[in-house]
Amino acid sequence: MSNRRILIVGGGVIGLSIAEHLLRRGVACTLLDRGPFAKEASWAGAGYLDLRSCARVGGAFFDLCRRSHGLFPEWVERLKKESGVDPELLDSGSLDVAFNDEEESALRRMEASLGAFGLSGEWLTPSQALQREPRLSPKAKSAFYLKETHQVRPPRLTRALIQVLQKGGALLREVEPVEDFLLKGNKFVGLRTTKGVIEGDGVVLASGAWSGLLAGKMDRPLPVRPFRGQVVMFRTKPGTLKHILFTGIQKAFTYLVPRRDGHIYVGSTLEDAGFDKSTSPEGMEKLKAGAAKILPSLSQQLIEDTWAGLRPGSVDGWPYLGAVPGLEGVWLATGHFTHGILLSPATGLLMSQAVMGERPAMDLSAFAPDREPHPVAGL
Ligand SMILES: Cc1cc2nc3c(=O)[nH]c(=O)nc-3n(C[C@H](O)[C@H](O)[C@H](O)COP(=O)(O)OP(=O)(O)OC[C@H]3O[C@@H](n4cnc5c(N)ncnc54)[C@H](O)[C@@H]3O)c2cc1C
Repeated sequence: MSNRRILIVGGGVIGLSIAEHLLRRGVACTLLDRGPFAKEASWAGAGYLDLRSCARVGGAFFDLCRRSHGLFPEWVERLKKESGVDPELLDSGSLDVAFNDEEESALRRMEASLGAFGLSGEWLTPSQALQREPRLSPKAKSAFYLKETHQVRPPRLTRALIQVLQKGGALLREVEPVEDFLLKGNKFVGLRTTKGVIEGDGVVLASGAWSGLLAGKMDRPLPVRPFRGQVVMFRTKPGTLKHILFTGIQKAFTYLVPRRDGHIYVGSTLEDAGFDKSTSPEGMEKLKAGAAKILPSLSQQLIEDTWAGLRPGSVDGWPYLGAVPGLEGVWLATGHFTHGILLSPATGLLMSQAVMGERPAMDLSAFAPDREPHPVAGL
């Protein structure tokens, strides 16, 4: 084990993944959270692992998404073996369902962007789509099947990570908010929490939607802020739905993620509502209507639960990954917006390499904390 004292602020999927990858490199770090671990965005998220939206963005963003997508099978297998918790990685595949010409044109554009990266899906007629997914609305005009869309169950993924870290000797300090950072000149030497001072050789800010507030404490403005996503969870019989379904454009965009045990996760809104995590009647109506449109039988089902989470939004939807310029021993891994679950293994791997002073396996300059915003948003 290395004796480098690395502190990670934020115990969501990003902080946990970095800690797990550091552990594999011989560093048992200290992880701090203001609340219980992994109960914010990383609990609320759907966990679909999607290359559709990443292909539209292209460039280094797509490279990062594809790399991370490819890391899941081995990562999840390792976590499952070491923790005994199954993160439920499923290769569900997705159907993008169009109900009119406008939606179909949007899917054709998506098909073209996927094609540019060598990914091809399959167009289905309404009857072919119904063969694959018998409860789909008969009003669907067409559907686009993509086998590469997978899913993981975020609360299980983070539970597995926490167990692996505990077994490996990482120090997990929850319900201990970080209040300030201690610098000697420009060098990080520790931080102050509500319980006292913790000295360290380096710190990673992985504090999700709150990262902007914390970076401000070091006089490093960071445009990360919360974007609320509301969710409705239905309970159905296992097998009711097999594929992940997407439908609608922009504000009408809705998706359904079927879990192995029959739960169907319906998401989500994308709202600028500050740190307010409540659900709203309008948000619930939008999701219920979107769900019933694509899977009419859901209108007869009881809702089991509803919630909202706060995505860590960056100005352009690309995450900030790397050392903070002008400071020694301070790194950022935040702003993952709508892709944080997908990007968690690659973030863990690349940031653990950066923190250890190794050359990251992928050039991170496109994600540098002081970069200019990218013209195509990574949403
Ligand atoms: C409704 C919804 C659906 C989503 N669906 C998907 C999806 O299908 N696929 C996908 O890839 N992504 C999805 N996302 C996005 C994904 O969930 C996030 O990008 C990801 O969880 C961000 O992880 P994080 O660790 O950065 O943040 P978080 O999980 O929010 O963790 C940050 C942690 O920092 C802690 N913290 C904050 N301030 C302090 C402090 N002062 N001191 C100590 N700790 C602090 C918080 O308590 C929190 O636990 C979704 C998000 C939402 C809300």
